[in-house]
Amino acid sequence: MSYLSKKNVEDLKVAGKRVLVRCDFNVPLKNGVITDENRIVAALPTIQYLINNGAKVILCSHLGKPKGEPKPELSLAPVAARLSEKLGKDVVFAADDNVVGDNAKAAVAAMKDGDVVLLQNTRYRAEETKNGEAFSQELGSLCDLFVNDAFGAAHRAHCSTVGVASYVEESANGYLMAKEVQYLGSAVNNPARPFVTILGGAKVADKLNVIENLLNKADTLIIGGGMAYTFLAANGYGVGTSLLDSEKIDYCREMLARAEEKGVKILLPVDCTIAKDFPTPIDGEIAVNIVAADAIPDDMMSLDIGPATAELYAAEVKNAKTVVWNGPMGVFENPTLAKGTIAVAKALAETDAITIIGGGDSAAAVNTLGFGDKMSHISTGGGASLEFLEGKELPGIAAMSDK
Ligand code: AMP
Repeated sequence: MSYLSKKNVEDLKVAGKRVLVRCDFNVPLKNGVITDENRIVAALPTIQYLINNGAKVILCSHLGKPKGEPKPELSLAPVAARLSEKLGKDVVFAADDNVVGDNAKAAVAAMKDGDVVLLQNTRYRAEETKNGEAFSQELGSLCDLFVNDAFGAAHRAHCSTVGVASYVEESANGYLMAKEVQYLGSAVNNPARPFVTILGGAKVADKLNVIENLLNKADTLIIGGGMAYTFLAANGYGVGTSLLDSEKIDYCREMLARAEEKGVKILLPVDCTIAKDFPTPIDGEIAVNIVAADAIPDDMMSLDIGPATAELYAAEVKNAKTVVWNGPMGVFENPTLAKGTIAVAKALAETDAITIIGGGDSAAAVNTLGFGDKMSHISTGGGASLEFLEGKELPGIAAMSDK
C-alpha cells in the first residue's frame, strides 16, 4: 500500500455532510485538568477545515485505558471544553456511556453545517479494541463520511480507526495523519544524507524490528538508554547490574556484524553514568560516577550515557542532514540522569538538519526542555511512529478509501 494512494480530507465533498473524525485526544490529565494540549492543537487544522467547508463535524477519540467500561475520570468532557476555547465556538459533548447513545443521536440530528459534536471515550466500549462489527456500524450510522486523523492510534485496527470505514460512503486521512506520514515517510524512504537515527529507551526487545529496518536505511545508528547494555554485552563487556536482555545478546551481535557488512556505523556508549541502585523515587537524589563503558563494576548499574558519549553523539548529529530520534539516553525522569538526553536534545535543536522526534518519551523530553519549536517534526504517536519506522503498514491508513 502506498500512503499517497489514499484519499485525504480535501478529496471529499464535505459540505452539508455528517463527517466523523477520529482524533487522537489521548491527552495527559491531572485531577481532570489537561496538562499537555499538544494533541488537541495538532487536531485543529482538520477540524477547522471541515467547519470552514460546511461539514457537520462529529469528533471521536479514545482517552487512556478504561478497558471497555465507563470511567468518569477518563471522560472526554475536559477535551470538549478545551476544544471549544481553541475553536472559539461551542463543542457539544454527547456524554453517553455507550458512546453512540441517545445524547449522541439527538446532538447529531440537531446539527447545522459547521457545528461540532464530541462523542464520549470510544474505549468505554469493550468492542472498540476488538474492531467489533456492531460498534463500528453504530459509529457509521451517525455519519456519511469518515476522516482518520489519529496518527497515534493508526497502528491499531479498532472500530473507530478501521471498522467504521466499512460503514460510510467514503473515508480519508486528515491533515495531521498526512503530515506525520509525509515527515516520517520521506525521512525513512528518501532521506537527506547523512541520515542518523538515535534509538534509546528501556528495552532492546521493543525495538528489534526498528533496528533491523533502519540498518537498511540509515548511515549511522546511535544506541543509548537501557537498550545500549545488551549491545555492550554483545561486544563482550561486563555491564554490572545495568538493564540487560540476555536473550537478545546474540541478536545484537548479529546486528553489529550486519551493520559492518553494510557499512552502517553503529555508535555505542564509550562512557557511562553509573550508580549503586535505580533511584527511588525515580526523581530522587542519587550519587553517580562516570566510568569507561568497559569498566562498569559488577555491582553497579549504568543509568545514563556519560559526558564523552554525549559529546560523541552530539558531534554525529552535527554532521547529519536527517536525524530521527526515538527513546531517551538514560533515566531522564531524574535530573542527575537526564544529562545525556538533554545533550542529545540540544544537539538536535542546534542543527540545521531535518529533525524528527518519534513521539513518546523523547517527545516529552524535548518539549519539557523547551526545544519543541526547534524540531522539524515531533510525532504525536509513539507506538505508531515506531511501527512506521519498522516499515509496517498502519491499518488506520490502509483502511481509507483509495484515490
Ligand atoms: P521506552 O518506553 O522504551 O522509550 O523507555 C523509556 C524509559 O527508559 C524511561 O522511563 C527511562 O527511564 C528508561 N531508561 C532509559 N535509560 C535507562 C537505563 N540506562 N536503565 C534503566 N532504564 C532506562
